[in-house]
Amino acid sequence: MPLSKAELHLHIEGTLEPELAFELAARNGVTLPYADTEALREAYRFQDLQSFLNLYYELMAVLRTEQDFADLADAYLARAAAQGVRHAEIFFDPQAHAARGIGMGTVVEGLWRALGRSEERHGVSTRLILCFLRDESAASALETLEAARPYLDRITGIGLDSAEVGHPPAKFREVFERAAALGLRRVAHAGEEGPPQYITEALDVLGVERVDHGLRCMEDPALVGRLVRERVPLTLCPLSNVRLRAVDTLADHPLPAMLEAGLLCTVNSDDPAYFGGYAGDTFDAVHRVLGLSEERLRELARNSFLASFLEDDEERRRRCLAEVEAYEFPRTA
Ligand SMILES: [Zn+2]
Repeated sequence: MPLSKAELHLHIEGTLEPELAFELAARNGVTLPYADTEALREAYRFQDLQSFLNLYYELMAVLRTEQDFADLADAYLARAAAQGVRHAEIFFDPQAHAARGIGMGTVVEGLWRALGRSEERHGVSTRLILCFLRDESAASALETLEAARPYLDRITGIGLDSAEVGHPPAKFREVFERAAALGLRRVAHAGEEGPPQYITEALDVLGVERVDHGLRCMEDPALVGRLVRERVPLTLCPLSNVRLRAVDTLADHPLPAMLEAGLLCTVNSDDPAYFGGYAGDTFDAVHRVLGLSEERLRELARNSFLASFLEDDEERRRRCLAEVEAYEFPRTA
């Protein structure tokens, strides 16, 4: 039995494995410029952010119908469950789909086909978080929120993702204010490739309750002090940071220092099909490579449930936290 954990930083479009990409391409009559799954898997070994983003958007072409989105989410949930995920807060990028003529309803209702029965089918409770692409305009974000209005019973919160530098959080002040007024929870990517000030701005201007990534806070001791004091959760993605070169190697990752500083850290898989591992793989990697103790792993798992948006189901949060505390790590010879 793996350690129970919540996944709080996961882009559903980033869970598309080559096998499913080919299956959906065949179903929808889309031709992929790769000979087979092996050739596509080879392409997943991209070298930088731009080649990742190119591939990421290219492959979205296979997602066309509600059933495609349902199959994508169901495949992720099955894999996550096998690695101990008991609760998943899932990002989706409606603007990337709208740009291809796929409407909000197809995406949300499709994902919901899988999410709505995930607890009974996989033992994984879920929440859905709509992300705005920060390299698109503020007006486009407002239109996107408007398009989501009929589906807000399915959507717990909003987030902000994609290329960070040059797109400070303040650009999205208005849409975050409107979302707050609609009762939506707020998170944002900040301090991944962007400077520590973006983290401060996300907190002060956008009112975010969690910071996605946030690892560059370590450049600003006063900010670290604030994040510790205010118990602001950070959703770190160590394997993603290596693949996108935020750190040189996993061994260089600041996670141990961040835990030492008292930050409320969680570890997550971001875009696992592309970045080489799901939630359990990530826990294994930080244990093996960063030498985190079993009690630190338990702390990360505990933090993931404490930082989750389970306020409407405190009973589930209590149950999951109890599983974390009761977990016995396997004895290694
Ligand atoms: Zn992300």
